[in-house]
Amino acid sequence: MLLTKTARVLDGVAIAAEIKAEVAIEVQGLKVKGIVPGLAVVLVGEVPASAIYVRSKVKTCGELGIHSEMLTPPETVTTEELLGIIADLNRRDDIDGILVQLPLPKHVDTKRLLEAVHPEKDVDGFHPVNAGRLQSGQGGLAPCTPAGIMEMLRRSGIEVAGKSAVVVGRSDIVGKPAAMMLLNASATVTVCHSKTEDLARYTRDADILVAAIGRAGFVTEEMVKPGAVLIDVGINRVTDVAEVQRFFPGDEGRAAGFAKRGSTVVGDIDPRAFAAASAYTPVPGGVGALTIAMLMQNTVTAAKLRRGLPVTT
Ligand code: NAP
Repeated sequence: MLLTKTARVLDGVAIAAEIKAEVAIEVQGLKVKGIVPGLAVVLVGEVPASAIYVRSKVKTCGELGIHSEMLTPPETVTTEELLGIIADLNRRDDIDGILVQLPLPKHVDTKRLLEAVHPEKDVDGFHPVNAGRLQSGQGGLAPCTPAGIMEMLRRSGIEVAGKSAVVVGRSDIVGKPAAMMLLNASATVTVCHSKTEDLARYTRDADILVAAIGRAGFVTEEMVKPGAVLIDVGINRVTDVAEVQRFFPGDEGRAAGFAKRGSTVVGDIDPRAFAAASAYTPVPGGVGALTIAMLMQNTVTAAKLRRGLPVTT
């Protein structure tokens, strides 16, 4: 690929810091009114990756002045017991947001549990009521990762209206809501998935390409329109040194990190495709960095909406 311009890096860490600083100011404003936003996180059993995510959510709450609680029922907890925990949290006035960390153990009815969270406290935006609100453009609590993508585009001055946006992936938590948000922002949206025939035909047409697949480096340079904006949602741990060398030829930083940890994180877009883009989100340090910031913003939004206060963000 012949390049005339350097692709712009969309720095998720910097944008997340901006959002968190704004949320901290909002929290201060609420405190003056005697309101402390509260987030309850339910972490079932011992899933190391989930524990890391939850710790980082709780830590960020502390940094921003948001009250947080972690509930840690054992792996053996039943759906009924978890429904009881959710019902208690729904009733509590000091809790504005309830987050059930996924995945849950196989014996737990995840759908039933997520639907039991009161829509007003559903800071993950997974409840069907909030999915419906998003679809009808009513605002409210939207899923954090796609909301983070939209914030990143907005704050980076990237035009969405009228553009061709292609989303690869149709999960309820990323692909579908991302497509809906892009549509609400007046992009012309195509959603692709594992049954899409000739995927590259669609991705090559994308001015904005969102990859939320869960397969390391799946979108290659040939699948990308030169000058496109590439949004990489994927978080894939790669442990094969040959793969690392293939994705990051000559990248000494990556090689050193891999040598130290025995793995590296790669998105769903082959990093070699980024050079063809006008702008792209790196992995790590792109979309992933924004998810917790948007959770904090949703918690403050929930605290305001529940009290009938105006929401500015
Ligand atoms: P998911 O529920 O497994 O969904 C994956 C989607 O990709 C599905 O719609 C699937 O299609 C599609 N897909 C799979 N193989 C494909 C192929 N060969 N061609 C075209 N489409 C294909 O995953 P998810 O929860 O949306 O997550 C996607 C990625 O984002 C993962 O790497 C995850 O770790 C990451 N993630 C990151 C964040 C963050 O904060 N940055 C948050 C959530 C997820 P079908 O529907 O046809 O099966």
